[in-house]
Amino acid sequence: MSNKIKLIFLGTSASLPTSKKNLTSVLINYQGQNHLFDCPENVQQQIMKSKQSIMKIKNIFITHFHGDHFFGIFGLLSTMNLNNREEGLTIYLPEKNKQNFLDILNSAQINCSFNITVVGIKKEQIIYSDKNLNIESVKLDHTISTFGFIFKIKDTLGKFNREKALKLKIPEGPLFSKLSEGKSIKINGKVITPNQVIDTKFKKIGKKILYLTDTKIIPVNKKLLDSDILIHECTFGKEEEKKANLVKHSTSVGVAGFAKKIKAKHLYLVHISSRYQETDNILTESSKLFKNTMIPKDLDTLEIDDY
Ligand SMILES: [Zn+2]
Ligand SMILES: [Zn+2]
Repeated sequence: MSNKIKLIFLGTSASLPTSKKNLTSVLINYQGQNHLFDCPENVQQQIMKSKQSIMKIKNIFITHFHGDHFFGIFGLLSTMNLNNREEGLTIYLPEKNKQNFLDILNSAQINCSFNITVVGIKKEQIIYSDKNLNIESVKLDHTISTFGFIFKIKDTLGKFNREKALKLKIPEGPLFSKLSEGKSIKINGKVITPNQVIDTKFKKIGKKILYLTDTKIIPVNKKLLDSDILIHECTFGKEEEKKANLVKHSTSVGVAGFAKKIKAKHLYLVHISSRYQETDNILTESSKLFKNTMIPKDLDTLEIDDY
């Protein structure tokens, strides 16, 4: 049976909020837990409007240390504290800014009642993993150290055939788990491989969501391929190509070309400069090259199956 992944665009603007748009941030709800990507000012009210729970936030991923991506975190922590949160929280941010962050946190004197783990991201790697989910960092190309994130539901190898396993005299327990995870085992001197006990015709591919902001277009890399949802910054329209390059942001046309190259299924443009009151042109420019382009509005929600 599949579970739902609920993805909410809490905000979609770049650098400055407008009267209609908040700063860019995405909340993903999966299996009763919330994962927050970027934490700008006003993020609390946006989460409340989305009817999601602030207390269910398990992880906060900060792409980089520009104010429009993290100024909301101190207020959010304070609210969690005032609501007597007990459950630990993990905050991921570029290693280069870990100490800056801890210094501000200390001077803000929130005196959190719960445990906060701050993880400094140094390179591209899986930074969070549980039974069904991996979250991996991706190095971006911006004016300061910046990481994007891959939210990937783990693929399953197939259906574990218990009868076959018992016939091979494998005792129920940890060896079953090892085989289900795709590892071979040795029993009575005999090696048993996963495909002896797993029906691979039931193999399932987990959904992949990319969150890439702020950045110039990055080179194609195998792990970016075939995403179901690509959320990419698009600070400018194509007329600002030169400027975008200079300040290390992306344009409509650049992002559309990138989406095509990495064979994304759907593209969502966020972090659009507040100078664009209307985004029709940006949508047209991108859609010409990549048909499945969308520009979400604040609080737009996607609901997709995990497999
Ligand atoms: Zn930004
Ligand atoms: Zn930035």
